[in-house]
Formats: sequence, structure tokens, C-alpha cells
Amino acid sequence: MTDARWVSHSYAEARDRFLAAASGWTHRVWPHPLTGPSGEVLATDTLRLGPMTARRLLVLVSGTHGLEGPVGSAVQLGLVTRGVTLPPDLAVLIVHAINPHGFAWRRRMTEDGVDANRNFVDFSAPLPDNPHYRQHQTAIDPDHWPDVPMTALRIDPAIPTAAHAGQYSHPGGSYFGGHGPTWTNRTMRAILAAEGGVAETIALLDMHSGAGPWAATELFVAEPGASTFAAEWFPGAERFTIARSARFGDPTGVPGLLLSCLPEIFPDRRTLPMLTECGTYPGDIPLSLARREAYCGRKGLAGHPRMARWLLEAQELFCPADPSWRRYALAGVLGRIDQALAALA
Ligand SMILES: [Zn+2]
Repeated sequence: MTDARWVSHSYAEARDRFLAAASGWTHRVWPHPLTGPSGEVLATDTLRLGPMTARRLLVLVSGTHGLEGPVGSAVQLGLVTRGVTLPPDLAVLIVHAINPHGFAWRRRMTEDGVDANRNFVDFSAPLPDNPHYRQHQTAIDPDHWPDVPMTALRIDPAIPTAAHAGQYSHPGGSYFGGHGPTWTNRTMRAILAAEGGVAETIALLDMHSGAGPWAATELFVAEPGASTFAAEWFPGAERFTIARSARFGDPTGVPGLLLSCLPEIFPDRRTLPMLTECGTYPGDIPLSLARREAYCGRKGLAGHPRMARWLLEAQELFCPADPSWRRYALAGVLGRIDQALAALA
């Protein structure tokens, strides 16, 4: 039974509720150096259900895109509240708010204006090039307040694809993947290194919202190497190969996804990186937000009343207040988690 009341109105409320539900479990704090809009402490919190000796591990991540934090956080709270019965050799690691700054300030990006879900690339190698973004840069990231409903972008359907693929050439632009690992990236890697234990099989689910049909949950499963077990576990899931280099024009060729660090950190273990999307309103909600947020960043409008008002409104686009949406969407993600737990058991 899912409960729409698991959704919190702010990062601070979400963290308080998560910590209250976590009491009695193994909890670790990963402090962020900055504070939230009300001066509140920012941190990623991890909660481990099950022993370090478990040979199978499921990692559940929320808030990679800060403004999408309420959905993943609610799923995590729901899971802890309802309880999980685990066989002795299976553990669950809950990673709450991996981009706490974005969650607290209601932004997609990290504190340094980086899209955390494009930041997990190899910074020791040449960065991926996105010639399509460069070609359409002024339409995607114009010098005026980005229009609604993105009329300019609809002229050429290739433009949104070019934007979503991420870019490393224009700091301050939409879907900027950064020029170095962000705090979110470094912290995610440190958490996995600390909590991987002796697990031989590790699955990771990164929870997002804002794309797809109303209240529908879609599961994407990456297949590192020659793995085929993902297909056995999730026969209906959308499968893709993790992009290690630029393959723009191919919708699955997005480099720098958070989930891609799992097989990198554990090359000798069986890994299953996964991502869920929960659909809300029609249109390209994530791109719409990214363009406006990037514009405000470029113009130094962070904290400007117009941005604050718009970000508050944008929350509805990523986590609608409609109780039936919340029940249905949360149940959809929890159902996928139950599927993963059953497969790992
Ligand atoms: Zn997202």
C-alpha cells in the first residue's frame, strides 16, 4: 500500500522524515560543504538494511537531479516505513539526496551549475564533443528568458535530442556535464567504495521524474559488458548500453550518467545499473527546466524572485500534488524495487 503523504515539501522536511524513519538502522552522513536556503545543513544520508557480509546488494539513489528529489525520497521513505524483509545474503543501501544542494534549492543542477547525470565521464580523457549542441546552442540557450512552450526548439526535432545528450563545451549552458567531478560524483563513488563490501552482485537504481506519460514508471536497464541477466530479470525493461564516448544522435548515447560509475568501481563483480523515470505533464519538462535554470545561472539571477517563483512552480511539474498521481507513481517505482529484490533474493 503506497501513501501519497510520503512526499515531502522540501529537502529539510524530507531529510527530517528520512532520519526519523532510519533510527535503529545503520546510518551514515556525508556532509555537503554548503547550506540550504534557510541555512539548513545539507548532506547525503545513507541507510543500510542488511549486513556488510551480504553477497548481493541493491543501491537506491534519490535526488541526482535535485528538483526530482521528492519522488525518489518518498519512495525511500515508503520503503523504510513499510519495512523490507530481506534474506540473510541480501542488503539494501538507501542513498538519500545525492545532490542535496539541488534538492534544497529546487534545482536540477549541482551547486556548480553541472548536470550531475552527465558528470560521470572520464575526466582524464578528452571530453565528449557534442557538435549538435554547438550547432544549436543559441536556440537551446538563448540570451533571453527561454520561451514556453519552447517554440524555437520545435522547429527541428533534432534540437531537443542534441540538448539531452549533454555538452561539455559551454559552462552555464543546459545539460553542462562539467570539467571535473562534482561533489555529487565524488560522494557517490566514495559511498559505493565504502558500502560495496563483499557483494558479488550489485544493482543500482537511480530514481528520476518528469519524463514520460502521466504517472507511468519506466525502467531503463544498462548492460555493462556482455551481461545478459538484466534481460532475464526485467524482460519488459528498456535496455541500453552505457555510453563511454560521444554517440550523439543515438538516444541511448548519453555519456556521464551516474549509474555508469557502478561497473567502473566494481569491474570484477556482476553489476546492474538501472534508472526509473516517472512521467508527469506533457512536453519536455526536463529540458524546459534546464534551459531556464541555465539562463538564471548565466545572468546571475540565482535567488532572484522570478527564479524562486518559477522553481516553486516547477516542483509541480516533477512531482504533481494530485494524490492519485502520487499513489500511482510511487507504487510504480516500489513495484520495480520489489521486482529487483525478488530477482536478487
Ligand atoms: Zn532526472
